[in-house]
Amino acid sequence: MSASREGLFVVFTGAPGCGKGTQARILKQKTHVCHLSTGEMLREFAQKDTPLGRELNAALERGEFATDDMIIEMVKSRIDEADCQHGFILDGFPRTMPQAEILEEMLAEKGIKLNCVLEIQVPDEIIMERILGRYSCMKCGAGYHDKFQRPKIYGVCDACGGTEFTRRKDDNRTTVQNRLVNYRLLTYPTIQFFERRGLLKTVDGTGTIEAVSKKIDQILGVESGN
Ligand SMILES: [Zn+2]
Repeated sequence: MSASREGLFVVFTGAPGCGKGTQARILKQKTHVCHLSTGEMLREFAQKDTPLGRELNAALERGEFATDDMIIEMVKSRIDEADCQHGFILDGFPRTMPQAEILEEMLAEKGIKLNCVLEIQVPDEIIMERILGRYSCMKCGAGYHDKFQRPKIYGVCDACGGTEFTRRKDDNRTTVQNRLVNYRLLTYPTIQFFERRGLLKTVDGTGTIEAVSKKIDQILGVESGN
């Protein structure tokens, strides 16, 4: 048993499209604690020539999802690295009850106490609007939205001047609805689990990115600044 660690250890959770990735990146810029996004970690680990990396790579190439075990092993090894010693923002993990239970065990072993699990709440209709409206520049990848983030000149990318745009194939109504159903079935129980542990905080995620970020800073006791 190691001594209890000081720092900012938080989990960002919420439905797909709730803005947790964006908010995690903003919080990282302010606090310099590391941002552990499951999606980014998967891409990074799948390129490593290690047993886990090869296993992940094979699963992704077969078009399968990583299993709970693979994801857990990846998170375990990542939070042992030096840049996570004084904090981390977990984003996209835990997504299932087995992951939540293992996270609890893992943190207890390492003497890490979570400050909180922060749920960003956004109604389904707004999530749908956010996801269905997004598109990106084919040349540089800059992200836009039909309603919330249009290029300054219609049809021209602000960043590179490109004029061709693309939408992700899985950003359609059926896929998003399926993801929301899965979220309710698999992830929502983890939120109830952390609520029973007295760790849950919720924030209304419907305002602007800046407004939501301010509310998160207040909850976590982080200086907002600007
Ligand atoms: Zn561009």
